[in-house]
Amino acid sequence: MAHSALEAIRKIGLAPSDVTRVGLGSPGTHDIPTGFLIVPPNLPGWDHFPIRDRVSAHCGLPVTFSNDANAAAYGEFWVGSGRGAESMVMFTLGTGVGCGIIIGDLIVEGQNSHGGECGHIIIDHGPAARRCSCGQLGHLEAYASATALIKRTEEALQGGRKSSIVARLEHGGSVTPLLLAEEAEGGDRLALELVLETARLVGVGAVNLMHTIDPEMVLIGGAMTFGGHDSELGRRFLEEIRSEVRRRAFPVLAERVRIDFASLGGDAGTVGAAGVARLAHLNKHVA
Ligand SMILES: [Zn+2]
Repeated sequence: MAHSALEAIRKIGLAPSDVTRVGLGSPGTHDIPTGFLIVPPNLPGWDHFPIRDRVSAHCGLPVTFSNDANAAAYGEFWVGSGRGAESMVMFTLGTGVGCGIIIGDLIVEGQNSHGGECGHIIIDHGPAARRCSCGQLGHLEAYASATALIKRTEEALQGGRKSSIVARLEHGGSVTPLLLAEEAEGGDRLALELVLETARLVGVGAVNLMHTIDPEMVLIGGAMTFGGHDSELGRRFLEEIRSEVRRRAFPVLAERVRIDFASLGGDAGTVGAAGVARLAHLNKHVA
């Protein structure tokens, strides 16, 4: 990581002495004030690792440490779709469901560095609730992530639903959001149903956050946006989220809160981590 940072500095023709601070975003869980990873489920072997200070020691520069989903949200807030907003929530849909909350140029990190973990809000408290990757039951991530979409697809097929997906699997394919998008665009009813159901689940998550912090914007980013604004399916996915929000949110919020796709793609986290480092630098100089 430190090598990559130094390499990036060299590639744009600068020296480390020209840089005041490095931004680092990583999957959690974290303790942001001390710069430790705690028990990151997707980074086995990195438990209780002092990542911030190690990167700092190797770079020879101070490092600002963030949750990766919070960094992505800050990137969108700083220079992406959220630019100019006063407050914003962003859901990052991928293998899991990441989330970040920004209010007035501040990331909500919370007392224990677990603020904005809204992929783990409970949307089903019943006994048959799905199990989340974190081990708990009924969390949004267990319904609206790519992993969950694949599982719901496999269950529908096992339940005997007819679909053009079956032929794709017989030719060696595996269920992925991309395959589902292709089949939905090709007219497969089940694939479209599953994509739109995912949108409604994201809409439920969005309403929970809207009723908690009343943000100016809700952004949807990550790898699973079905082509975003550039595709018919992506636009339909977004419209289904908006429709679910209109159905469930307080009328004032349903009318006023803007819901849109993020715009920085896979760069959001990197850009945002740099933005958080910049913010730390500016705040230091203000104080
Ligand atoms: Zn969870």
